[in-house]
Amino acid sequence: LEPKEEFQHSSLTADVMRPRRSDPPLAVLTQEGMTVEEVEALVESTHYSGFPVVVSQDSHRLVGFVLRRDLLISIDNARKRQEGVVGASQVVFTEHSPAPADDAPPPLRLRGIVDLSPFTVTDHTPMDITVDIFRKLGLRQCLVTHNGKLLGIITKKDILKHMANDCQQRPRLHPLQL
Ligand code: ADP
Repeated sequence: LEPKEEFQHSSLTADVMRPRRSDPPLAVLTQEGMTVEEVEALVESTHYSGFPVVVSQDSHRLVGFVLRRDLLISIDNARKRQEGVVGASQVVFTEHSPAPADDAPPPLRLRGIVDLSPFTVTDHTPMDITVDIFRKLGLRQCLVTHNGKLLGIITKKDILKHMANDCQQRPRLHPLQL
């Protein structure tokens, strides 16, 4: 995001973030309750570079953010090396969790790969401020919240695409309207 590219329009982060109304819902992981198989299915059915971790599907309270590649490497390593980790093992992103039932396979603890302080903006943040945050902090993605609940995600590419669309539309305006 070049500093010289001006972003003078009055869009809000809500206008640029994903998912859009017609998109599938945000792909999230819950801090506990998902199995290795379920996490693998979610990762493999999408191409996203990362996944927010939330307290629960109902609350959508944000716990952190985990990169796709870290998830895949950790699951792969655990399946190869960690005794007893199988598809039905629970994936646990919390610090503490209740001991598994006697007959349950051992859980896979992945708190270590979670970024527990991902950058967030609210959906009402004007886009020029969000763009400034991306520039100044060199972000690749940022999570979007509303009233403390996770609502969406915005990536550097989403912003670049939005800026490119804006540039295409501008020549259609009369110069006095610019
Ligand atoms: P990039 O935008 O650099 O290609 P991604 O591959 O992570 O990065 O994201 C592709 C698109 O999907 C972007 O529009 C982004 O906003 C959206 N996206 C990213 N992560 C998720 C997610 N976990 N759930 C839903 N949409 C996502």
